[in-house]
Amino acid sequence: MSEKFDVIVVGAGPSGNAAAYTLARAGLSVLQLERGESPGTKNVQGAILYAHALEKIIPDFRDHAPLERHVVEQRMWLMDEAQACSGMTYRDEQFAQPPHYRYTIVRARFDRWFSEQVREAGATVINETTVTGLLKDKNGKVVGVQTERDGGEIRADAVILADGVNSLVAQRAGLREDIRAEHAALAVKEMLFLPRETIEQRFGIGEEQGVVIEIAGRITHGMVGTGFLYTNHDSLAIGIGCMLSDLRRQQLSPYQLLEGLKRHPSIRPLIEGAEMKEYAAHVIPEGGYKALPRLYGDGWMIVGDSAGFVNAVHREGSNLAMTSGRLAAETLIALKTRDKPFTASNLSAYKAALDGSFVMKDLKKYAEVPSFLHGNPHMLGTYPSLLNTAAREMLMVDGTDKRTKQRRIFAEVREKRSLLGLVGDSYRFWRAFK
Ligand code: FAD
Repeated sequence: MSEKFDVIVVGAGPSGNAAAYTLARAGLSVLQLERGESPGTKNVQGAILYAHALEKIIPDFRDHAPLERHVVEQRMWLMDEAQACSGMTYRDEQFAQPPHYRYTIVRARFDRWFSEQVREAGATVINETTVTGLLKDKNGKVVGVQTERDGGEIRADAVILADGVNSLVAQRAGLREDIRAEHAALAVKEMLFLPRETIEQRFGIGEEQGVVIEIAGRITHGMVGTGFLYTNHDSLAIGIGCMLSDLRRQQLSPYQLLEGLKRHPSIRPLIEGAEMKEYAAHVIPEGGYKALPRLYGDGWMIVGDSAGFVNAVHREGSNLAMTSGRLAAETLIALKTRDKPFTASNLSAYKAALDGSFVMKDLKKYAEVPSFLHGNPHMLGTYPSLLNTAAREMLMVDGTDKRTKQRRIFAEVREKRSLLGLVGDSYRFWRAFK
């Protein structure tokens, strides 16, 4: 392609679409390249869409985006092998009133819709094209991309890397290292189809309303990870993910964990009779703040999962992806308006914008969490198990007096964790999550 663009965006997931849409709306010439047959075909997500991030890009998205259900209830389950202690169930009637804050979505449909908006905004979108490398000038400034097509060099004043967790393009160009196993979670997900009314009846929700269940505990065999179950219109998304380093050490596959989760007595009745139609596996960057790569340089910026922008504590990724894509685009728009070149020093405004946003603030807040969870197998193993034991003791009305039950619980706690260990864990927990 001989034409030169203002910006090339690599990838058409939420971060790339947010960037390309924002740039095209502002009148910049944008080329977006996606390796998938169509946007969304390669993408995996639970998927919860957080409205705030998309609202800043397409304020009226609720009128036309393919949304599934709006979430009215959040459940947090701490599971043992055959028990589930509902750590928290939060249902809010305010969540049932528009405008809704969280929706379930099906990524294949959602990404296709978002991509249509990008095209309508004026960007050139080309699918089935893999970017294989970056073009640099003699000073090392990024000046375009190399694609796998014949004569596939395309030039631009800036390149936004939105190519997802592995970001091979950034790695090959020496802008980022490969993700380390202890910073990557491998998640698997299935789509289980059920009639709409069955879902509403089983989860106690009305038409268009949805439930989110987040799950931790023994289902991950003590590894750092969580599971989830979300309601769509006529399907359920169920999944589980654990850190790659843990899976390797324990020689377990996420598929085995997912089968275990589906067999759990608290899950089985919810999914009974459902038809499994889709299975997908994907890596999630969960290294957090301390694992972030360099975010910009001469002629380039990196956004979304490629930059490692995932808040694993709150299971947020797509909102960080869309926000970082938008902020990268706004940085370029502001520079273009002032006729300033896309040099590293000028693009540092992107990092400043991220620092001022919830993206960096939240990542910084939980900077210690990944190492805390890695170094403490009790958090997702021993403690959920103890909580379930305590719940069983107290809820089993069998003629034993409550003080005796309390003594039994304390004895079990002392057997599983020393007093010193308990105090240390509480302090480290407070430090990591404060
Ligand atoms: P991606 O969505 O990965 O998009 C990258 C795009 O780049 C893809 O379309 C890919 O095909 C394309 N691409 C890659 N390489 C090239 C190349 N060389 N050339 C051209 N194109 C290329 N987040 C939430 O907010 N809520 C959730 O409920 C949630 N649940 C999740 C559940 C699972 C199982 C997983 C795996 C993730 C979940 N996430 C969730 C995280 C969320 O999916 C990601 O944070 C988000 O998709 C990141 O968007 P992105 O655009 O940066 O990357």
